[in-house]
Amino acid sequence: MKKLRLFTPGPTMVPEDILLEMARPMEHHRTAYYKDLVKQCHELLQYLFQTRAQVVTITGSGTSAAEAAIVGCCPPGHKALVVNNGKFAERWVKVCTTFGIEHTTLPITWGHGAKAADIKKALDADRKIDTVILVHSETSTTALSDVEGIGRLTRERGALLIVDGITAVGAIPVKTDEWGVDAYITGSQKALMLPPGLAFVAVSDRAWERIESGKMPMLYNDLKAYRKSLQEWDVPYTPAISLVRGLLPVLKGIKERGLEAIWKETAMLARGTRAAAEALGLKLYAADPVDSVTAVVVPDKVNEATLRKSMRDKYGFQIAGGQGELKGKIVRFSHMGYVDAFDTLGVIGALEMCLLGQGFNLTVGAGVAAAQKVFAEAMTH
Ligand SMILES: *Cc1c(COP(=O)(O)O)cnc(C)c1O
Repeated sequence: MKKLRLFTPGPTMVPEDILLEMARPMEHHRTAYYKDLVKQCHELLQYLFQTRAQVVTITGSGTSAAEAAIVGCCPPGHKALVVNNGKFAERWVKVCTTFGIEHTTLPITWGHGAKAADIKKALDADRKIDTVILVHSETSTTALSDVEGIGRLTRERGALLIVDGITAVGAIPVKTDEWGVDAYITGSQKALMLPPGLAFVAVSDRAWERIESGKMPMLYNDLKAYRKSLQEWDVPYTPAISLVRGLLPVLKGIKERGLEAIWKETAMLARGTRAAAEALGLKLYAADPVDSVTAVVVPDKVNEATLRKSMRDKYGFQIAGGQGELKGKIVRFSHMGYVDAFDTLGVIGALEMCLLGQGFNLTVGAGVAAAQKVFAEAMTH
């Protein structure tokens, strides 16, 4: 059996001890045992999100929590500004159209992140907007948005800020309270190194006011029900018990290592990968690159599908391709969760060999050497 290493920006690799924890015999959720698990996880989730606010856990993929936050925070009478700079941002526009939420879309060139100045202009142009929705780390284009700067602005204007932090939380700096984010969202299968199936949203008091006042028809994703249960460390519906059991040691491990150390390592892996690409004569896609995932432009004479297939079939590395209009044009490498400098040197080595296999001209080891130089500088003292 070939060793498979996931370098996709979700799902990511799951550590063995977490897999074993999740494989233990089933427990019941209406018990003191489960309430204690919820309580412990909640405290650690607050650390993860850097917040004192309530963090709701939903059984579902990341989209479920994002939909819950957007629909809950945008009842009739409110108007949203949705930044659209990639595939995931597009999905939040779709949530607005699906639920009939009054909104304006702010298109931003793919590869770029949202900046406070863009948002300011849009808010100035339409005084009715009282909610801003954006993606912190747009995984499809690997672009980073300035959440801190935008948070300063939305607080000044009294608007709510909803942020898809699905490939940001636990990977790059996220400071929910300090930045004034009203709903920060993530999922289990990215930086939290768990299987897919859990979604999280940290909800501010301002957002709760909006959610409690709203009359949008919702049931499973109605955050009000989760809030009520959470007051007694309970859950409204049968939770993904095994995943939550895996979540506790993941969160404990993150706390033990410290977020700062994790953010630093993620940034180092991204720096090394970018240096490798440059050394191999490959272009990076993003103008505002994020550190949780790197997109490399596939050179003209190289076939992207063949490249990804040979990475997996010959060398055991699953990497991601492009989505939407980027299909066939880029490949993406994750730096989140259970992945380190040596895994990353491996994926760069395999990339070199696959490019060589397609006749791309390169010096074997040039990418690995460039990345290793970055890692050595960061790790040996
Ligand atoms: C993965 C991802 C999502 C999608 O979440 P699902 O878990 O597939 O629902 C949304 N936004 C971003 C930025 C992502 O990376």
